[in-house]
Amino acid sequence: MATKGPIVEQIVRHPGGFPVVGIIGGGQLARMCQPPAVGLSLTLAVLAQAPDAAAALVVPASPVGPYDDVDTVREFARQCDVVTFDHEHVPPEVLAALEADGVPLHPRPSALRFAQDKLAMRERLGDLVDCPRWRRVDSLEELTELGTEVGFPVVLKTPRGGYDGKGVRVVDSPDAVPDCADWFERAAGDGLLAEEAVDFTREIAVLVARSPSGQAAAWPVVETVQTGGICTEVIAPAPDLDDTLASRVTEAALRIAGELDVTGVMAVELFQVDRDGEPGYVVNELAMRPHNSGHWTIDGSVTSQFEQHLRAVLDLPLGDTRARAPWTVMGNVLGGAEPRHAELYGTYRHLLARDPGLKMHLYGKEVRPGRKIGHVTVCGDDLAELRDRAAHAAGYLEGTIIE
Ligand code: ADP
Repeated sequence: MATKGPIVEQIVRHPGGFPVVGIIGGGQLARMCQPPAVGLSLTLAVLAQAPDAAAALVVPASPVGPYDDVDTVREFARQCDVVTFDHEHVPPEVLAALEADGVPLHPRPSALRFAQDKLAMRERLGDLVDCPRWRRVDSLEELTELGTEVGFPVVLKTPRGGYDGKGVRVVDSPDAVPDCADWFERAAGDGLLAEEAVDFTREIAVLVARSPSGQAAAWPVVETVQTGGICTEVIAPAPDLDDTLASRVTEAALRIAGELDVTGVMAVELFQVDRDGEPGYVVNELAMRPHNSGHWTIDGSVTSQFEQHLRAVLDLPLGDTRARAPWTVMGNVLGGAEPRHAELYGTYRHLLARDPGLKMHLYGKEVRPGRKIGHVTVCGDDLAELRDRAAHAAGYLEGTIIE
């Protein structure tokens, strides 16, 4: 429902000239910016999709309105000193209107488009870093051609709007190509991304932050474990990661951030590959905002990705990105069976008692099967023990483990 008129009457600021950071979108990322905003004496305002959106539950200034309506977003931005994003779906015409109004946007639309559109991203990154072999495909014939060139299976992706593996499909053989006809119909002439299926040894991610004045910082490279296309576990740092590869991927992410003039936090998801016995990488995709692969930093790093994002978009000096413990393990909590979730608070109380070192972050979201509703984090010295504790807590919250 479009909200017209002054959607925020008056945002109450901290005295002393501290700014208001506006976030378009009221999901869990905006929600997790609130604790560091308190720590930094900043005021957050969130343009939320609903009164009970994850961030609207914790940010007092959470007007409700559509992120794709120019007037609504303009009105919201007028109340803020800087504007950033909870997701990548704000349409180009809305971003252009804000830019024309002179709103300081971070990341800038000229950078953000490479995180919004996987075809634009592949085209831009090709000269900068190692990527899978790919092409834009507009027909089943072109998909077959790519498969013949790089070998089946190939991976077909919708360039925009995908998340958690939705919008990604593996095409195993030439015989499976005709099954993709509906994807081309839905693409309606916009083209799809087809790329080689990378034979990876594992998935890793690197998180960096860059400020408008060019200061940059990187966190340790992490391993991301996926189950059914959804990230279920993140291990920081990535176990047994070759030092040279760690430097190369960190340098690649910083190069991308610099070349694309990224401002704020950016995550680069990569595949680790074996190149004749030497570890290598190819870049999978970019996110220009705090990212699931960086949730471990809330409890596991001196400066969390959410604090760093706020610092970066305001061009404040960046914080220390070192880990607080030898290992941090983050487990995502996915929505499970309904009866269990009606009792989520009881489940939560049980876990607080069972594991006093466990940190649980639940997003206040309505539970749907498979939806990310929270995450758990543990830090310490013994990786195997930490992985067990995180898996137990996540499984207990999901209802797949009952004791
Ligand atoms: P989303 O934007 O939905 O997160 P991704 O492009 O990250 O989509 O793909 C989701 C998952 O699919 C990846 O984490 C990886 O496991 C798998 N995948 C994606 N691209 C490839 C590829 N080229 N080769 C092999 N696996 C892939």
